[in-house]
Amino acid sequence: MINKPPMKKLLPFVCAILFFASCKKTASTSPESLPNAYSNQQLGASANDMLSSNKYTTLNIQVQYMPGYELDATVIASVTTYLSNICNKPGGINITQSEIGANGDTLNVDKVALLEVQNRTLYTSGNALALYVLVTDGYDTSLATLGFAYRNTSICLFGKDIFNHSGAIGEVSRISLETSVLEHELGHIMGLVNLSTPMVVPHQDTIHGYHCNNPNCLMYYATEIHAGLGALANNIPVLDSNCVKDLAGNGGK
Ligand SMILES: [Zn+2]
Ligand SMILES: [Zn+2]
Repeated sequence: MINKPPMKKLLPFVCAILFFASCKKTASTSPESLPNAYSNQQLGASANDMLSSNKYTTLNIQVQYMPGYELDATVIASVTTYLSNICNKPGGINITQSEIGANGDTLNVDKVALLEVQNRTLYTSGNALALYVLVTDGYDTSLATLGFAYRNTSICLFGKDIFNHSGAIGEVSRISLETSVLEHELGHIMGLVNLSTPMVVPHQDTIHGYHCNNPNCLMYYATEIHAGLGALANNIPVLDSNCVKDLAGNGGK
């Protein structure tokens, strides 16, 4: 089952993923606001900027991880290839990683947004679009998700939660799970499903918000929640043809 998120100031951004699409609010006046106007927009606002080369020809992704939760080089390589196959970025796609201080177990959506404000240093500038990925050593126990996208260029991966649900005998590998969740959240940044990228063929699983109705698709809702892990095995799901068509229709390859 999917738990409801707590009622926090940033709830509208998370709930865009967690199935309460009617919530609308910007973070521009909250203490979690970033010092960069472009990066304070709602989730989905940068879909075309990410997919097309109209405004931005380069994509730079800043990953910041807490001690013990560095992304494996295989994850970085897979995600770079995934984005290269979708996004028109002739200037290249670059993912850099750096470590930040530990936080501890207790996290919530507001804290994640605040950590981004305190630590993020890479922002969209010139012809380079910038995304931010925070990999944490804790997680919000009230959330069923292993990660979430919030704002137009921001993603959080609950590193410890992913660690706790992978790597043991009979479980998915940590590399596969991290790759799947990160690629899924990037799909939301790119406007899937029906978030800001229009559908070519109707395929939204409206019961589960902005997700795909194909259980084999990367954008199926269960990819990012605990309940979906059993089905994941070590096969990293890919976007199905309907999701690929949507992205191509909004400036992607
Ligand atoms: Zn999702
Ligand atoms: Zn799909």
